[in-house]
Amino acid sequence: MKTKPLFIVISAPSGCGKSTLIDMLLQQYPELIYSISCTTRAPRGDEEDGIDYHFLTVERFRELIAEDAFLEYAEVHGNYYGTLRAPIAEILAEGNSAILDIDVAGAAKVRHHVMHHLPPDDPLRVGFTDIFINPPSMEALRERLERRGTDSPEVIERRLANAEGEMARAPEYMYQVTNDDLSIAYKRLCDLIEVRAGRM
Ligand code: 5GP
Repeated sequence: MKTKPLFIVISAPSGCGKSTLIDMLLQQYPELIYSISCTTRAPRGDEEDGIDYHFLTVERFRELIAEDAFLEYAEVHGNYYGTLRAPIAEILAEGNSAILDIDVAGAAKVRHHVMHHLPPDDPLRVGFTDIFINPPSMEALRERLERRGTDSPEVIERRLANAEGEMARAPEYMYQVTNDDLSIAYKRLCDLIEVRAGRM
């Protein structure tokens, strides 16, 4: 059954389990397509170019900014991150749904663009659904980042400091989900998608 294409924006401080939840959603919903962001940061662990991110040089990223190729871009933790316009429009035009994993600054830009610059019947506006994922607590977040073992202590401190600022902006989102228990958080996300897609 084809349902309303959604334009889902998810934000969360890093270490909240957001990637795990997004992977679970992608398994569950074949019509859901992950928007691959561009970034100037180096690949981590087993991340692959063109799958996790498009890993670009700062020069190339700036060229794309100059070409107005980004729906939004932001500087996060000292690196550029951005969402290209064209692939999102294509995903929705094909009747599928796009899911973006972007920071609060990027989400605010997308929200403003969608609500103030797009006509009410634009598919991006009709399907717009933004969700903030909260960690159960700051201590839990620190533990998760340390256990993940992919970041240096300085990077972890920077991510934790950013997390507080990000969580202060959670009320700007249409929905908030706390990832205390993974299966409960996942169920809540599925319910949100069903409701927004008009299946519930
Ligand atoms: P990470 O380096 O852990 O993969 O991501 C760091 C932050 O950058 C996360 O909060 C993530 O949501 C955000 N991010 C990833 N892609 C984009 C993007 O295209 N635009 C913006 N604004 N933020 C992004």
